[in-house]
Amino acid sequence: MSQSTSRQNFISNLAGNLDNLREQGLYKPERVIASRQGSEVICDDGSKLINLCANNYLGLSGDESMVQASIAATEKFGYGLSSVRFICGTQTVHKQLEQALSAFLGTEDCILYAAAFDANGGVFEPLFDENDAIISDALNHASIIDGIRLCKAARFRYAHNDMADLEKQLIAAADKRHRIIVTDGVFSMDGTIAQLDKICDLADKYDALVMIDECHASGFMGATGRGTHEHHNVLGRIDIITGTLGKALGGAMGGFTAARKEVIDTLRQKSRPYLFSNTLAPSIAGASLSVLQRLSSSTELRDRLHANTAHFRREIEALGFTIKQGTHPVVPVMLFDAPVAQKFAARLYELGVLVTGFFYPVVPMGQARVRVQLSAAHTTEQLNTALAAFAQAGRELNIIK
Ligand SMILES: *Cc1c(COP(=O)(O)O)cnc(C)c1O
Repeated sequence: MSQSTSRQNFISNLAGNLDNLREQGLYKPERVIASRQGSEVICDDGSKLINLCANNYLGLSGDESMVQASIAATEKFGYGLSSVRFICGTQTVHKQLEQALSAFLGTEDCILYAAAFDANGGVFEPLFDENDAIISDALNHASIIDGIRLCKAARFRYAHNDMADLEKQLIAAADKRHRIIVTDGVFSMDGTIAQLDKICDLADKYDALVMIDECHASGFMGATGRGTHEHHNVLGRIDIITGTLGKALGGAMGGFTAARKEVIDTLRQKSRPYLFSNTLAPSIAGASLSVLQRLSSSTELRDRLHANTAHFRREIEALGFTIKQGTHPVVPVMLFDAPVAQKFAARLYELGVLVTGFFYPVVPMGQARVRVQLSAAHTTEQLNTALAAFAQAGRELNIIK
């Protein structure tokens, strides 16, 4: 046996890379929660925290109604399918959920995936080839970027949210057979809402399709929570919608693509994460279906979320903090300096508030922040307690007066 085998080198290289990450402050530790996900959580160290960093927009993740709906679906349909959809993995509950999602989003049909990451990973390659062009916002989600990489279409990138640059790229792609503009409906770092009205107008002018990723929008953006297309009054003008069941729409996991039936049928025949990965668990399908029924009969959760968002945005500014302006429940509280953001998040933890600091390379250099995410489950009292902690930590660290 040699002293230093390839396997040993492999492991010691990884250990060195991990040490570098730690030294640069880029290593991501994981908090361990010992309770359900909710507006408050209890961590494994026993601390009880007001939670301001989950994608739990409608407050359903740990809600008893979801637990009961998932138990009911498990009782009826069992634990799992041990199959992909096209062999023996499609149950009535999966078809019902696909129909309910289509109706909610205003599309003809819908296909389920194990995650939105898979929906985005499996959407481009079956639909577009080297004759086509994909025109993508520079800040699109990693799963969109990876999906585009798996496809042979020509790639065009436009500067984030920059409609003049999008128009340039559409002109540059004019000789392609099909053009598709792809954007996050809402960008999760800033809470920026894509300008879908303008994007749809440009798509019409240059004969392009439009795809949006609605992970931070489905369930609560727009008057009845259908998403960014409803918010911007372009329902029916979007060709492809991808989204997740793992954020507002219940919070377990699962993703979907919604579009015209020819698009969805093609994906069922050819999309690799659908063809070669297990069926979504019936507990998730059944519980997600109950969420859509609830959202279709009442806007109460969505309304409470937006009221909480307006309250937090107003009060945090009144304390003297700088936030990114907007209306989305993602509220970036700007601290600019990476060590300040880290210290601020750590102090808030001690004061009983769970937030995460973001800094370069997750956000641009000099744009460090804590990102607050509101939920319909937050009570006004919880938000006011959290705001008082922001005020105390902010004064201690000389962020506010
Ligand atoms: C969270 C997210 C995804 C991935 O969703 P999963 O269902 O967790 O895989 C994809 N796109 C965007 C924009 C997201 O925010």
